[in-house]
Amino acid sequence: MPGENLILSIRNLNVVYWARRGWVKAVRNVSLDIYRGEVLGLVGESGSGKTTLALTVMKLLPTNAKILSGSILYYGLGKAVDLAKLSEKEIRKYRWKEIALAFQGAMNAFNPVMRIKDHFIETAKAHLGHVDEEEVLKEARELLKLVLLEPDRVLRSFPHQLSGGMKQRTLLALALLLRPKLIILDEPTSALDVVSQKVILETLRNIKREFSTTMILITHDLSIAAELTDRVAIMYAGKIMEVGGVEDIFYDPMHPYTRGLLKAVPVLKGTKEVESIPGSPPDLIDLPPGCAFHPRCPYAMERCRREDPPLVEVKPGRFVACWLYTKR
Ligand code: ATP
Ligand code: SF4
Repeated sequence: MPGENLILSIRNLNVVYWARRGWVKAVRNVSLDIYRGEVLGLVGESGSGKTTLALTVMKLLPTNAKILSGSILYYGLGKAVDLAKLSEKEIRKYRWKEIALAFQGAMNAFNPVMRIKDHFIETAKAHLGHVDEEEVLKEARELLKLVLLEPDRVLRSFPHQLSGGMKQRTLLALALLLRPKLIILDEPTSALDVVSQKVILETLRNIKREFSTTMILITHDLSIAAELTDRVAIMYAGKIMEVGGVEDIFYDPMHPYTRGLLKAVPVLKGTKEVESIPGSPPDLIDLPPGCAFHPRCPYAMERCRREDPPLVEVKPGRFVACWLYTKR
C-alpha cells in the first residue's frame, strides 16, 4: 500500500510499567502501520499489551508507565506529528477530534448523574468551545440511529437506564460525534451477551460503510476479528508476532503462535475439537531469553532460546517475527 495512505505509523515503541517486583515490559519494540479507511485487528491473549499500546497512542497511560523509546507518527493532518513527544496540553487537540478511544468496560465511561443528551453536549463543548446545542443533538440523533438505537429515548435517559450493549453503542455514537479520523475500540464486545455482540458488530459495519473511519479493533477473540477486519496484527508478550491480510492470517497462518491461536477457535477451524496452546504466557517482568514464545513453541530451535527474532516482511504485506522464516 502506498505511503500516502498511512494514518498512523508506530516505530520501535517500548513501554514499561513500574511494579513492586520490577519493570513490566508491556510493549516491546512494536512497529505497526495503520492505513486510512482500514479496520486493523489487534489480537492477542489477555495481558499481551494491547490496551497498553492503545493508551500509549492516546497518551493516557497511568503514572507508573513510561515510554522508553520509539515514535507514534500521526498523518491525519497532513504532515507527520509524533504523538509520543507531545505534551498533555498538545495531545488534547488530537483526542476525540482526531483519534477517539472507546474503552473496554464502556459501562463506567458515563457520568451517572448526567442524561445522555448532556454527555453529547458537554463533549462537543469541551472540544469545540461554544456550540449550538440543537445542532449537536441533531447530529447525536443521526449517530444514535446509525448504532441502531432509538435516539430520543436514549438521549433523555440516564446511563443506568440503558443495558450494557446499549451503553456500548451510545459510547460509539459519542466517539463519532467529532468525526475522528481514527477510532480505537478496546474489546467492544466483551462482557456482552451474544445478541448484543452481534448488534455491535453490525453497528461497526455501519460506521465503516458510512464514514470510512479508520479503526483499530482490539480483541482477544479471533472470530470477531475475522468478521470485521481487513488486516490483523497478532500480539504476544508485548510484541507483534505476525501482521497480514485477514484472509492470509486465517487461511495461511505462519507464526507458530498464530497457528496455536487458530487451533483454539472451533468456529474458524470448522470442527468441535479445540486445542489450546500448552503452557501459559510469560511473566513480563522476567521474560525468557530469545523468542518469548519459545517455552510453548513446538518448533523451538537452539537459536530461539538465545536470540529474539525481528519482525520482518517475508512477502509483500506479510510480517512475521520467527526464526523459521528469517535467517538474519
Ligand atoms: P487485557 O485484554 O486483559 O486488558 P491486554 O493485552 O490489553 O490485556 P495490557 O492491559 O496492556 O494487556 O497489559 C499488559 C501487561 O501490563 C500485563 O502484564 C499487565 O499486568 C501489565 N499492566 C497493565 N497495567 C498496569 C499497571 N497500571 N501497572 C503495572 N502493570 C500493568
Ligand atoms: Fe518458535 Fe523459534 Fe519461531 Fe519463536 S522463533 S516462534 S520459538 S520457531
